[in-house]
Amino acid sequence: MLSIHASPLGALGTRDTGGMSVYLRHLSRWLGAAGHRVDVFTCAGPPAPPQALAPRVRLVHIGRGALSGMAKERLPGHVAEIFAALEAFRAENGLRYDLIHSHYWISAAVGALARDRWRRPHLVMFHTLGAAKNTPGSGENESALRVAAERRLAAAADGIVVPSRAELAHLTGLYAVPREKIHTVPCGVDLALFQPRGREVGRDRLGLPAEEEMVLFVGRLVPLKGLANLIRAVALLRPQRPRLGLRVIGGDDPRGPSALIHLTRTLGIADAVHFAGPIDQAELPFYYSAADLLALPSYYESFGLVVLEALACGTPVAATAVGVVPDVIREGHNGVLLEGPAPEDIARGLARLLRMRRSPVEEAHIRSSVADYDWRAITAEIEKIYQGEMNRESTR
Ligand code: UDP
Repeated sequence: MLSIHASPLGALGTRDTGGMSVYLRHLSRWLGAAGHRVDVFTCAGPPAPPQALAPRVRLVHIGRGALSGMAKERLPGHVAEIFAALEAFRAENGLRYDLIHSHYWISAAVGALARDRWRRPHLVMFHTLGAAKNTPGSGENESALRVAAERRLAAAADGIVVPSRAELAHLTGLYAVPREKIHTVPCGVDLALFQPRGREVGRDRLGLPAEEEMVLFVGRLVPLKGLANLIRAVALLRPQRPRLGLRVIGGDDPRGPSALIHLTRTLGIADAVHFAGPIDQAELPFYYSAADLLALPSYYESFGLVVLEALACGTPVAATAVGVVPDVIREGHNGVLLEGPAPEDIARGLARLLRMRRSPVEEAHIRSSVADYDWRAITAEIEKIYQGEMNRESTR
C-alpha cells in the first residue's frame, strides 16, 4: 500500500488527514486478518522505524533525509526519490511484493514506477479527483498539472478502485477511463464503534441542552465541504427556529477557522454555531447520537464516510447527491437529498428533516441501511479484485 502524503495514523479531521487514512487503517487490518502481509509506505509524520499496525501489517516510514517533513505540495516533484527510498527498503529486506495498491494521485505516481520496475499489478484508488474538485462554486483550484497527472496515471494503472457510482461516472466522464478497468467497491464503516448510544445519553455526555435542535457537521474544514453555505442556511432558518444550533467537528484549530467564525458574527448567529475542533473518533458516536441530523452539503465527495457513520448511529443525514449519498440515502427513510449546495437548498432540506422525530425503532431502521458496509465484507471484495489482477498478471 502506498499512502505517501498522509499517514494512516495521522490526526483525523485535520487538513490532509481524513477518510483515506480511515480507509487504510481498516483495509490493511482486515487484509492482515485474512492472512495477507501488508506494508503501508508513507512519507507523512515524523520518521520512525517500521511499526506494527495490526497482525501482519506494518507502517513503513520512508520520508527520510530531504523527504523528511516535506510538504504535500512538494512531494510530486520528488516522486523518483520516493520510489528510490521504497526500492531501497524492499531490496535491503529481501522483499517481493505481489501487488501494489496506491492511494491518492501522488502515491499513484510512485506506484507507477514500482509497477514498471517490479512488473507487478498496480491498482489505484484516487480518493479525490482534481477535475471533480474543480466543480464551479467549490472554491477549490486544483492545478492543471494534477489533473493531467491523474489522467495519465489512470491510463497507466492496471485497475482503478472507486468507492461510489458517482466516482465511476467522474472517471469515465472527466478522464475517459474505460469502464472495464474500474472496480466499484464502497468504503466501510466500523459497525462495532458506530452504534446508537441514545440522544439523551449523547447530550448528557456532551453537556448539551435537550431542547436544542442540533445539526452536526463532521469533516476536514476545506471549502469543498460547503460549510460556509451550511452556516448561511442556519442563519436563514434561525428566525423561525430559535433553538437551532450547529456543531462543527474537525479542523486544525480547536477555536475554529477565523473566516468561518467571522461569518457567524456577520450573520448574527455566533451563539448558534459551536466549533469543537478535531475530536477523537472513539468519541464521535456520542456526537452523532446527540445530533438531530448530520449535514454534508459538499460540492464533491468521492465517498463521505461520515454519512455511513451517522446512519450507523441511527442519525439521519441531509446531504447533497455526492459520493455514497445517492447509493445509500432514501428520502424520508434515513435522510434527505439536498437539491444543491446553495444556502437556500440546504435550509429547505434541514427544515424537512428536522420535522422527522426519531424513536429507537426508527434509529434501528436507519442503522439497518448500512448493514452491508461492514469492513470485513468490504475487504473481501477488495481481495477478490487483487486476486483477479494477479490471475491476469500470471497469464500475461
Ligand atoms: N474524523 C474524526 N475526527 C474529526 C473529524 C473527522 O475522526 O474531528 C473522521 C471521521 O470519523 C471520518 C473521517 O475522519 O471517518 C472523514 O472521512 P470522510 O470520508 O467523511 O471525509 P474526507 O476526509 O475523506 O474528505
